[in-house]
Amino acid sequence: MERVLDTIVELQEASVELARSLALLDGVPDSMQELHDEYESKRSEIEELEQERQQAELERRAAETDSAAGKESIGHYQEQISRVTTQREYGALLSEIDTVRAQMREADERALLAMERQDQASALLGELRGAFESLDLQYQEALAAWDEQKPALRKRVEVLKGRIEVLRERLPAATLNLYGRLFERHGGSPLAVIRVIESARAPIRHCSFCNYRIRPQVVLQIQTRGALVPCDSCQRILYLDAGETG
Ligand SMILES: [Zn+2]
Repeated sequence: MERVLDTIVELQEASVELARSLALLDGVPDSMQELHDEYESKRSEIEELEQERQQAELERRAAETDSAAGKESIGHYQEQISRVTTQREYGALLSEIDTVRAQMREADERALLAMERQDQASALLGELRGAFESLDLQYQEALAAWDEQKPALRKRVEVLKGRIEVLRERLPAATLNLYGRLFERHGGSPLAVIRVIESARAPIRHCSFCNYRIRPQVVLQIQTRGALVPCDSCQRILYLDAGETG
């Protein structure tokens, strides 16, 4: 007869593999991680620089608009000068023109600085994009190869989900509840295998998770009856490696 402990050990193994497979489907395999990180970092560097270039262009256009508006005002003032009749009106107009000219100089300076920034960003963008081409190609190839592996992984996910369903149905309700609570509390690892350390006199057994020493009597209970015994320290349900059971 299959023991409840064996079933929940298998349930945990399937759950861990399922979680790992789902996370993998959402990301990239380890073999691709370094390339992925480099690709993302270069891509975001180019994106930021492109934003800086656009921002500089906007600022240059705004400054140029300000400068052109100033030129237009000065034209109007100069027209008015030809029609003034008093010295006071004339003086007031000249002072207006001076103010606008100062504003125009400031706007022209702004436009020049913005243009320099825009040019610098454009030049650097050209370099970065050139260097990015081969990395991009390499990344797209790796991505395509990874995409080819995904259907098999998706199939494995379906198999695991089915297996988990079957295993859960096999468990008594109380055990399933206990397993569920421990699963929540311990972030998806409700069980801990017992680790054996050989010593001169007799093997010493520890919880593989928290290293707490397990009493021989507990080991015997698990070995002979498949008893569900929590670790005294971390509370995970203990089990023995396949070689040590029965
Ligand atoms: Zn423990």
